[in-house]
Amino acid sequence: MQNKIQSHHKEKLAYVYLRQSTMGQVRLNQESTERQYALKNKAESLGWQLHQIKTLDNDLGLSGAQSSNREDFKSLVADVSMGKVGAVLALEASRLSRSCTDWHRLLEICALTNTLIIDEDGCYNPSDFNDQLLLGLKGTMSQAELHFIRARLLGGKINKAKKGQLRFPLPVGYCYDSEGSAVLDSDEQVRDVIALVFKIFNDQGSAYAVSHYFGKNNILFPKRAYGGVWKGKLMWGKLTLSRVLGVLKNPSYAGVYVYGRYRHEKTISPDGTIKAKMIKLTQDNWQITIQDHHDQYITWDDYLDNQKRLEKNQTNGIETLLPGPAREGLALLHGLLICSYCGHKITVRYQGHGGIAPYYQCSWRRKEGSGTKDCLTMRCEPVDHAIAERVLSVIEPQQIQIAVRALEELENRQQGVSKQWQLKLQRAQYESDLAQRRYEEVDPSNRLVAATLEKRWNDSLADLDTLQQQYNEQVNNNKVYNISSKKEELLKLTKDFPKLWHSQSTSSKDRKRILRLLIKDITVKISDIPKQAILYLRWQGGATEEMSVALPPKSSDKWRCSPDIIEQIQTLAKSMTDQEIVELFASKALKTNKGNPYTLYSIKWIRFKYNIPSYNLRKPGEYSINEVAHKFDVSHHVVRYWIEKGIIDARKAHNNRFWIFLSPEKEYELREKVNSSTKIGLARAKYLSTNEGGAL
Ligand SMILES: [Zn+2]
Repeated sequence: MQNKIQSHHKEKLAYVYLRQSTMGQVRLNQESTERQYALKNKAESLGWQLHQIKTLDNDLGLSGAQSSNREDFKSLVADVSMGKVGAVLALEASRLSRSCTDWHRLLEICALTNTLIIDEDGCYNPSDFNDQLLLGLKGTMSQAELHFIRARLLGGKINKAKKGQLRFPLPVGYCYDSEGSAVLDSDEQVRDVIALVFKIFNDQGSAYAVSHYFGKNNILFPKRAYGGVWKGKLMWGKLTLSRVLGVLKNPSYAGVYVYGRYRHEKTISPDGTIKAKMIKLTQDNWQITIQDHHDQYITWDDYLDNQKRLEKNQTNGIETLLPGPAREGLALLHGLLICSYCGHKITVRYQGHGGIAPYYQCSWRRKEGSGTKDCLTMRCEPVDHAIAERVLSVIEPQQIQIAVRALEELENRQQGVSKQWQLKLQRAQYESDLAQRRYEEVDPSNRLVAATLEKRWNDSLADLDTLQQQYNEQVNNNKVYNISSKKEELLKLTKDFPKLWHSQSTSSKDRKRILRLLIKDITVKISDIPKQAILYLRWQGGATEEMSVALPPKSSDKWRCSPDIIEQIQTLAKSMTDQEIVELFASKALKTNKGNPYTLYSIKWIRFKYNIPSYNLRKPGEYSINEVAHKFDVSHHVVRYWIEKGIIDARKAHNNRFWIFLSPEKEYELREKVNSSTKIGLARAKYLSTNEGGAL
């Protein structure tokens, strides 16, 4: 081994690469982890300085099947290819990577950069043919080994599953007994609570109703920890909607043993990485189903019925959730809004006549059973409108700024160019002037010199002329590039943006896209007085701002009587009839919130609604004067006399109307009085004969 490790290897770094496929291995297979860390000592004994040894242990707990998320493996490959690494140490060389392509690529790079690979068995130099062969073989073997192990494990697994003996985590409510068979949980409370889930679902027919019931009545639901420190321990928590669905959809509760409800499927993502996805299989595709495998909470038929009901609920849900074509263009902020009460995305609901009025609603807390009310509900329209206005106001100045800056830049550049031209022309002019002067100053008799100077003057004139022409051309070109008109055009465009936004031809999809380009998210809070939505906007650039949007009162609130009117009626009803109140309100020209005058009916309704007793309402056991007169066969004058003298109990109500209370004793007393009184007898006779009584 030592002769393969050269001094130039020792000058470079030694990488110790540690890997365990799963966190379970990391936790349980500590020996292996320790052995891997011991490689550091090995590197030291082989001659590397401590500071040269780098341990890569970030990939512990990540499967070696792909390198996509194994950051340390990636940096290992990168550093090896840059020639920084003298040797790579791993427990088994082939464990560096379980994927053949990754492994071979690493070998190739190691060969090129003369990097050694060291494991417990020995030291390999991938640039050496024999070592390369050996390493390649090791990789292939490991690949094959993996295949055999997997096949053997899976075969064994299916065999066991066919007999219903393959153990997997049982749903809460079941435990394994000492012989390893599934039995009902010995905890009675656990069994009762699970039975309650099925009972409530049976009664109410929706999973949501179950979680709601549990939440409302503060009933907790158990969970048995599987593995880890808490293994086997019961933990009680809120029953969420997803857990209700989990219980209802789990065939184990019907005493059925099922293997293969899910299948792993590998897909290639656009960036080339392989991702495993769990796919739920339909009941017909379950691999193994054994009926009456263990004790049941519900029958198999009940289970099937429940599935049908759930499926039906689901389609109902989808129908209300999916916007129809008529609803398009509404709910602009769908996907951008976040509920400030629970932190979840706010969904869109359609309510109202024909289900076309869109509402932003978050029912997460209610659905999860942690509250009885929705987090928030608000009409889409005011919020959409406010945000659109804000976006338009933001876009305008920004757009103008950018456009104006660009134009100014262009203007500057043009001015610079123009100045250059001026200088050039000036120089040409000067040279031409100079040539002219020289020609004029020369002695005409010196013909040879004069001819040369004349030619120079002519040339300079021609140069000046060309230059002038070029300049004129340039200026003309610039006219095409008329900046001020361009500026106008741009300003017009920014003015057009709102038009574009509001235009019929702009689809709501485009508007939504524009909003997403500008806004990251909006957190929503509702305040009740005054009714408004408080929006915390986060722009894509990272800027934040707060906005409040007034919301229309609920329709029930809108038509609700104002507290002032209720108070007035409360006071008035103590001394006035409903009719009198109506008349009083009419004289004051008071109108209802809908703008109509108050009627007898509306006053009666308000009194009923707010529990205001009527002024002339008869209490139980009370009689009117006429009724008492009739009862004792006397005139109403007699009764009035009795009231006046305090012989009978009466309370004066509206319009001097009396309500009289008669106890049985009083009734007896009065009867005696009437029978013995001659005065009354005479009056009665007179009353009966003339039907007209005089005052007594
Ligand atoms: Zn919420």
